[in-house]
Amino acid sequence: MAKILIPTPLRQYAGKHDTVEVAGATVGEALAALIGQHPDLRRHLYSEEGKLRSFVNVYLNDEDIRYLSKEKTPVQHGDTLSIVPSIAGGAVAVEAPPVTLSKEEILRYSRHLIMPEVGMDGQLKLKQAKVLLIGTGGLGAPLGMYLAAAGIGRIGLVDFDVVDFTNLQRQVIHGTKDVGRKKLDSAAETMTDINPYVRIDRHEVALSSENALDILKDYDIVVDGTDNFPTRYLVNDACVLLGKPNVYGSIFRFEGQATVFAYQGGPCYRCLYPEPPPPGLVPSCAEGGVLGILPGVVGLIQATETVKLILGKGEPLVGRLMLYDALAMRFRELKLRKNPECPICGDHRTITQLIDYHQFCGVPLHEPAPAPGTAEGEIDAAEVKARIDRGDDFLLIDVREPHEYQICCIPTARLIPLGELPKRVHELSTADDIVCHCKSGMRSAKAVEFLKQAGFRKVKNLKGGILAWSDKVDPRVPKY
Ligand code: ZN
Repeated sequence: MAKILIPTPLRQYAGKHDTVEVAGATVGEALAALIGQHPDLRRHLYSEEGKLRSFVNVYLNDEDIRYLSKEKTPVQHGDTLSIVPSIAGGAVAVEAPPVTLSKEEILRYSRHLIMPEVGMDGQLKLKQAKVLLIGTGGLGAPLGMYLAAAGIGRIGLVDFDVVDFTNLQRQVIHGTKDVGRKKLDSAAETMTDINPYVRIDRHEVALSSENALDILKDYDIVVDGTDNFPTRYLVNDACVLLGKPNVYGSIFRFEGQATVFAYQGGPCYRCLYPEPPPPGLVPSCAEGGVLGILPGVVGLIQATETVKLILGKGEPLVGRLMLYDALAMRFRELKLRKNPECPICGDHRTITQLIDYHQFCGVPLHEPAPAPGTAEGEIDAAEVKARIDRGDDFLLIDVREPHEYQICCIPTARLIPLGELPKRVHELSTADDIVCHCKSGMRSAKAVEFLKQAGFRKVKNLKGGILAWSDKVDPRVPKY
């Protein structure tokens, strides 16, 4: 006979027993015997295909046998099998005393406790759960606040950024007084204020191939609130390798996406997007803008899915991509299928460890440091001002968009948005002496490149764009 220890959340399906004695020569037989005695456990332990659910770990005595064949692993008389749903806290939870709620917590969570779908069991699951939030920005803000309020016991935050004024339009976890502070500190402070019963881990790092597995391994669920492709693929691959669900959300202008990747045999991010878009094709929120309210909606879809996964209630957003269009106020749902050829979760895996994601996405890890002084083809803001004051004969061309021009402009500049430059190039003469500018110098560098290829010889790029103009020439010009 062997003993099977039943974890607290599953005891209600096992006649309230914490231990069940079973006969069986292998782990598989012992588990089958357990199900035989307590049939209600079946759907909690096994998927419909009869596979042990991926969030259920089985330990033989103290050994993790997750990767061993349950059919072949022998069980001796007197052995102890522990069933550990990974969302309940891994091996440690078995040893830990049963979690309870204090009187204050019962009052705090009263509106959860009176719902049968949550109840005391559900609230205790939430308390035992460990959730990692990657990023405390647009998506991380509502996620952090609501997951803390909901009573997730332990929340890890990964961020190394500092709050700035442009964050406040959407990152509601930070306030005006927090500008200049570390986002980690500001977010943790808000969350602790909302719910002091939450343990918050601060990971002040850029998530990388070197540290990701180490950071992610301690959590049950990973919530991706990042804004760049290298980290998206890194989070995905780390989640697939570790067998952790990846609650995904993304935002751009008026549109959002959300789904749950790498959960219960469902597809992963690479099944959906095997390859990243070429660098520069999809603008970031910093370049393309985002409706401030949008990350609230998408982040709370992620928060909802996270809570559902912990409670084991409802239908998780697995294999379904939720698309949200705020302008049309419409939700759509696309079926996502697992790609059998997926290099990390498919049948023939070629990725078995984390790779260099910056190289994979064609994005350099660090922006090349701006050269001191002005490079060939560049001109300093102060020099442009001096040329204007001298009455030099040159054309200043603003290649930003008209709505940016409305925010601020350099008075003598002529607006030709970068996208219109090819068809309006005839408005210029190759003999003209031209300076191009944009917001920070990136787009105008492209404009200069284009004009040079079109035969213009005297073209320069205003280094640092209108932001540098505001810094060095005219502080009345607002920065955005
Ligand atoms: Zn995949």
